[in-house]
Amino acid sequence: MLIKNGMVLLDGQLRECCVQLESNRIAEIAPTIRERPGEFVIDAADHYVLPGFIDLHTHGLQDAMPQRGDWLRYARLQLEHGVTACVPTLFAAPEELIDSMRQGLAETDRFRRTPNLLGFRLEFPYVAKAGAGLASALRPITPETTQALFEAGEGFIRIWDISPELPDAEAFVRWACDHSIVTSLAHTSATIEQARRVVEAGLRLVTHFYDTFDVPTMTDPGVYPAGLTDYILVEDRLTVEIIPDGVHVHPLLVEKTLRCKGLDRVAFVTDSVLGAGSPPGVYDGLYEGARVEVTPDRGVRRIPDDALSGSAMTQLRCFQQAVRRFGRSIPEASVLCSRTPAHVLGLNDQGVLDRGMRANIILLDRELNLKMTIMDGEIVYRADEPQR
Ligand SMILES: [Zn+2]
Repeated sequence: MLIKNGMVLLDGQLRECCVQLESNRIAEIAPTIRERPGEFVIDAADHYVLPGFIDLHTHGLQDAMPQRGDWLRYARLQLEHGVTACVPTLFAAPEELIDSMRQGLAETDRFRRTPNLLGFRLEFPYVAKAGAGLASALRPITPETTQALFEAGEGFIRIWDISPELPDAEAFVRWACDHSIVTSLAHTSATIEQARRVVEAGLRLVTHFYDTFDVPTMTDPGVYPAGLTDYILVEDRLTVEIIPDGVHVHPLLVEKTLRCKGLDRVAFVTDSVLGAGSPPGVYDGLYEGARVEVTPDRGVRRIPDDALSGSAMTQLRCFQQAVRRFGRSIPEASVLCSRTPAHVLGLNDQGVLDRGMRANIILLDRELNLKMTIMDGEIVYRADEPQR
């Protein structure tokens, strides 16, 4: 397959180039490439050719929520939003997590049927505060619980959230590093010292930064207090997730984070739930007995208490926000939505376009609308074709 005439993101710049694909890889990127006899050609004139989006933190999309068992439909919908890699995120009690993971592994044939789903992320049960989830699902860290979840995941747990103030947090982080699981600092009231200890133990990611973090308390009148968020901003070993919908994090704090951490240490994530990517309205079944209202300006709100319950974002909208709201260039937005998330997961053949990389590619028009998704060298979504 040959993609011609597009503005291709290469080495951090947009260049008019051709991209040739061979099976599931990028074979060549060059200003001109001669077309092979019979080769399928895509004319990408007036389009940006970018690496597919990667979302580290996502619970649901439109009417699909893996935790409820919609794995195949969820994977399909993600492709229709340009996401060629994501980590379905579960938040439930251990017994339910085990059931969900078993069901997901069976339904996706261990992710062979859903190559854009990378595995599992466990946001629960090892966090100190439930956020929008159920506090009754949280558990202390024990070797038995860890082992039961690890075995049910069959090696597919990619990210595991943890609050540093829980007893045995450091030992858990060391265990996770030994098992190639990324740990993420989450839902916490930890002190700076507690956080520093889990970073020393190997923790490298921060879960939806600023959301579910405490505001530091004033202890000495006249002295401005420093808290955990300040430590995170200047700790270069940590990459932070940000939900850039303007609801979860004030735009000033997003700007501050981008300036302190740099683009290589910020990953835009959706934290999307059921109803994300859908028209505004009321949706059923976020979890047992819960309904949510999706509104573009206020995110996703639980009914009836109006609590913020995840976002209505898609990774495409995160990308658009990076450009329109936060004034970043298209190459910079791609770093936030593809390259940095790939680094976090250690995916060294995704997140940028280059020879030898996986052929996971999206085409956006000049207004940043998604026109095409290519996954492993095959067109899996075209905006101009009716969807199933
Ligand atoms: Zn979440």
